[in-house]
Amino acid sequence: MDKEDILRLAKDSRFISGIYNYCDRWCERCIFTSRCLNYAMSEEDEDDSIAHDLNNKAFWDKLHKIFQQTKEMIIELAKEKGIDLNSADIESASREIDSKTDNAENHELSQTALEYAKMVDKWFGTEYPIFERKQEDLNTMLELGIDGTAPHVEANSINNAIEIIRWYQHQIYVKLMRALTQEDFAEEIESDTTLQKDSDGSVKVALIGMDRSIAAWGRLQACFPEKMESILDILLHLGRLQRKTEQVFPNARSFRRPGFDDRNNPL
Ligand code: SF4
Repeated sequence: MDKEDILRLAKDSRFISGIYNYCDRWCERCIFTSRCLNYAMSEEDEDDSIAHDLNNKAFWDKLHKIFQQTKEMIIELAKEKGIDLNSADIESASREIDSKTDNAENHELSQTALEYAKMVDKWFGTEYPIFERKQEDLNTMLELGIDGTAPHVEANSINNAIEIIRWYQHQIYVKLMRALTQEDFAEEIESDTTLQKDSDGSVKVALIGMDRSIAAWGRLQACFPEKMESILDILLHLGRLQRKTEQVFPNARSFRRPGFDDRNNPL
């Protein structure tokens, strides 16, 4: 896809402006792929299946082309905004970013989210045999024709729960970190304005990830009642993270994401 293709797509009115800024990037499960410019751009690239092969020269050539285009766009944008890309201020700006990142990394929310991600890895690492046993049980039930389609339903339910947990496991931390390092994190917003904080948008995505993960853990708990205790530990940890996040970012839940929270946008 060249610059003209990108500009052509960007002008297409079917796309919801900025919808991809506050989504969870799970395009495979997204209900707005037909309204998302980001998705349309990646789909056009999908036509060239060679580009998917990391070992293929076409992939690297293409990446280089994207890099060149992006570099040109940065230079043009910097010129437009009067930014000197060679300025010595970059050093102090990068020091500022470092210190913001340090503060965010040490924040209770990011620490708790990171701990959650580790708990998930540990749980799946330790409990792997229960999935093998369950698979054997379900296969046996299928072979014997016990319970009709129930084994399929249960297998799907387990797979979906695992996919959800794995999808959001690290994203929750990443989104919280993004919010904690945003300029507007500590800024107060006048109650009579419709202005929304970018940090609240990131946190909303993290909160949705937590909601869905909690539901998915609940599903696993129902399928593996013998693991009630270990799953409960994770659920309590995630529940605490959720409550604390809502306290630190009280307006995040009401953030309106383009498309997803806009009832005027029919599918
Ligand atoms: S809005 Fe949907 S289709 Fe677009 S990038 Fe996000 S998840 Fe993917």
